[in-house]
Amino acid sequence: MSYVILNRNNMNTLEPKQSSLHDVVSCQSDYDPAALPVEQAQQIIQQFIAPIHSSEKLAIRQALGRTLAADIISGINVPAHDNSAMDGYALRGIDLSPDLDIELKIIGTAFAGRAFDAEVNQGECVRIMTGGVMPDNCDTVIPQEFTLNANEMHVTIPAGKIKSGDNRRLKGEDLSAGKTALRKGKILRPADLGLLASLGVAEVPVQRRLRVAFFSTGDELRSLGENLDEGCVYDSNRYTLYGMLQRLGCDMIDMGVIKDEPDALKATFRSACENADAIITSGGVSVGAADYTKQCMAELGDVAFWTIGMRPGRPMAFGKIHSHGKSAYLFGLPGNPVAVMVTFYFFVRNALLHMMGAENTPLPLVPVSSVTAIRKRAGRTEYQRGIVSIAENGKLQVAITGAQGSGILRSMSEANCMVVLHHEQGNVAAGETVDVLLFEGLI
Ligand code: AMP
Ligand code: MG
Repeated sequence: MSYVILNRNNMNTLEPKQSSLHDVVSCQSDYDPAALPVEQAQQIIQQFIAPIHSSEKLAIRQALGRTLAADIISGINVPAHDNSAMDGYALRGIDLSPDLDIELKIIGTAFAGRAFDAEVNQGECVRIMTGGVMPDNCDTVIPQEFTLNANEMHVTIPAGKIKSGDNRRLKGEDLSAGKTALRKGKILRPADLGLLASLGVAEVPVQRRLRVAFFSTGDELRSLGENLDEGCVYDSNRYTLYGMLQRLGCDMIDMGVIKDEPDALKATFRSACENADAIITSGGVSVGAADYTKQCMAELGDVAFWTIGMRPGRPMAFGKIHSHGKSAYLFGLPGNPVAVMVTFYFFVRNALLHMMGAENTPLPLVPVSSVTAIRKRAGRTEYQRGIVSIAENGKLQVAITGAQGSGILRSMSEANCMVVLHHEQGNVAAGETVDVLLFEGLI
């Protein structure tokens, strides 16, 4: 494979040489841009997009939410020694008797961080705290509450309470030296920061943030603070896009609302292309739209215009545009506010994660019972907004959030999940199981 270096300011981006979008789609059987199934569009995007190769070192707290750029190998065993999982007494498992209580002599104490460093012999034990290093010869801990007649000198271990090896954490059982603790491509979450700290790792290499430029197109759009003239609407897409990109950890370039004027559009596309890795636009890609957005996209690069077999969000443009030796991936989303969010979540999100070099684990679809019947036409994928709740029988159920028009943003705001009605699926009867994608997770 040959490589080209993209000469962007402050970016040492090394991208594998790309085949054209035409090459990618020509490998698809039955490619029809005017009736493209969701899965096929997702495949084409995935095949065309290449990850960026540029990383930086960050202190682990700053690395939260960022993508690891290299495997992290554990340099130490965690824990470093066998130690106690309980407050109690460390003893030799071979001294235990299955049917006789035994009395042991207490010869000292092991604290967490302060070991007892003499040998323990037959008939002896050591008082030990949680995390205390297991004294020599000891392999078992009896929790304090299981013991009888404990005093300063002796303690009785009742028969049958514990087995040899109980309540001991083994050296390296969390992570062993030389093993991969975290894999390249992992998006770092709170547990990972703790894990890195437990290895003594203070800094990690992460992929640099993606730079994403976005703007809205349409003569009817007004920005906040402007007068809402007759027939106009406030531009809401730049705000939902801001929120979605922020959650993905992207750097953003908000380029505002651009009127349907060829020069203004072209200048904006060029500037976006020269400063960003990816460009997201909304509006102006519908079939028969009386505007210049599509024309500009086509002039500046390798762009396909699709009608996708989905609802909402049928029209979409995808490709790569070029300006003055620089290039950026382009996602031309439809204008309707719900369609913007749906196409972002089901096409753009994965593409951006792939560009970031993040591991691609599909989001889990949860099967739940539908409270009502849902009308659905086979032969397209529908994404309806739903509210998952717990039914009287304790199981999950989902109800659709009223009107599902692609302009009704309220339906996204009220929903806590997306009901995914698959391509081949037809009408759904009340009580039938449907797949949902939950908006929020624990972490
Ligand atoms: P279009 O895809 O440009 O034909 O737009 C479809 C519909 O979405 C029209 O009703 C537009 O007014 C509306 N729309 C387009 N862009 C935005 C935006 N940025 N904010 C809110 N509504 C929009
Ligand atoms: Mg428009």
